[in-house]
Amino acid sequence: MERAEKVTRKSLNLREEMMMKDLKLAGLESERSIIEVDGVALGGREIILMGGPCAVESSIQMQESAATVKRAGGKVLRGGVFKPRTSPYSFQGLGLEGVNYLVQAAKEQGLLCVTEVVDTTSLDLVLDKVDLLQIGARNMQNFELLKLAGKVNKPIILKRGLSATVEEWLLAAEYILSAGNSQVILCERGIRTFEPSTRNTLDLSSVGVAKELTHLPVIVDPSHAAGRRDLISALSKAAIAGGADGLLIEMHPNPDEAVSDGPQSLTPEQFLTLARELGGVARSVERVFNFAETADTLESLRAQIDQIDQNIISGLAERMQIVRKLSDQKRLDRVKDTNREKDIIQRLVNLAEDLDLPSDLVRKLYPLIFEFGVQTQIKSKLKQEPKLSQSFYNLGSK
Ligand code: PEP
Ligand code: MN
Repeated sequence: MERAEKVTRKSLNLREEMMMKDLKLAGLESERSIIEVDGVALGGREIILMGGPCAVESSIQMQESAATVKRAGGKVLRGGVFKPRTSPYSFQGLGLEGVNYLVQAAKEQGLLCVTEVVDTTSLDLVLDKVDLLQIGARNMQNFELLKLAGKVNKPIILKRGLSATVEEWLLAAEYILSAGNSQVILCERGIRTFEPSTRNTLDLSSVGVAKELTHLPVIVDPSHAAGRRDLISALSKAAIAGGADGLLIEMHPNPDEAVSDGPQSLTPEQFLTLARELGGVARSVERVFNFAETADTLESLRAQIDQIDQNIISGLAERMQIVRKLSDQKRLDRVKDTNREKDIIQRLVNLAEDLDLPSDLVRKLYPLIFEFGVQTQIKSKLKQEPKLSQSFYNLGSK
């Protein structure tokens, strides 16, 4: 089990303070919530990838989708079986038959699964079968449904309503929490704006705002936000950089044939490519995402190691550039700061322990890095101020 992240709340503005009064259970205290489902921790350090088609259509479609999610390192298979469609003439979902395809496909791949519920009947039908329940954007303020969701012992992914403010979204979460279910995951999926070039507008600031005001995990669904597959990769990366704890992405084995939301669904190849690129973005914000597909061939393991080594050397080069600039701020005889070195090592040893990395590696590696840093600073100082060089050597010879 991961350690919950300790947080210090920034001071809130008056409006936020008012809002917090009603967020009795959802409001951020001193720790973020981690929602754990069968070993998958939502809201921890790891970014959780969820994927699958908009609607469950067939058993083979779900098997192929599940295999792709697994290869990508995803943890949750999605698929709608009760579809709240804008038009009554559009495909409404396969119902119970579809749930069985979803559950079976997820089970074969060792994935969790999630589907949307729209009322008491659909909730009762899927409750004992799926691992997570979704309340869709159109039902975010269906208060009776929220209260029902509060009575079950399953995590709820609560989508933000099409035109809901963050406050309304968080109060909807409060409905579920106050009815007794503490496992709520917020999902930003785009809101309606005047902009017609995308289906909705992905409001990434809402991720930061929600995380400022609540302790609940927040994920992002870029698919319903963009409505077009060409933007999904960039929006997903932006979401992770913006603090999202996970992604819910539509992917279909053959999007051109999809009965719903084909234009915004990624192909399996696009989904895998995106997953391959997520690790780097996650690392840049001190999160983790492990792409799974290639974990077992010698060639691909080596390719991953080569990529990581390249990042390590680029990182060290960048560090050295900054260290050089540091020398401008210091006196020549104060270049080495032993206390600061101790603090850095302690901080990195703690991080290494959290990340399951032998802390001795940090203890051995960092003194070397410091040593080269000090040398570099001395050289650059002497170069800038050649007169100092004489006095420095005189000092040394005393
Ligand atoms: C969905 O995820 O299938 C869906 C209908 O999303 P939303 O409720 O966000 O429109
Ligand atoms: Mn959809």
